[in-house]
Amino acid sequence: MTFDVEKAVEAQKKLCDEKGLPHFAPRFGTCYNCRTNIYEEKQKTRKDFLSGENVSYMTGITVEKAASELITGCPHCNRTYCD
Ligand SMILES: [Zn+2]
Repeated sequence: MTFDVEKAVEAQKKLCDEKGLPHFAPRFGTCYNCRTNIYEEKQKTRKDFLSGENVSYMTGITVEKAASELITGCPHCNRTYCD
């Protein structure tokens, strides 16, 4: 797992070019909606459904993910870039 904004932007661009896919992700990775960089790691908390306790988890797109999957939305605020 590697978080690197520049490399991830490049990796996603390359994936789209090679596969002829539309590039939905923001040009520099900054989400239009929450202004957080989608390629940066961010800690979030959610309430666990069963125990009622707060559980923290990480969001963000790694370089590996950007290189292998088409990004269609923000991992932080879940805003979709498709529409
Ligand atoms: Zn967002």
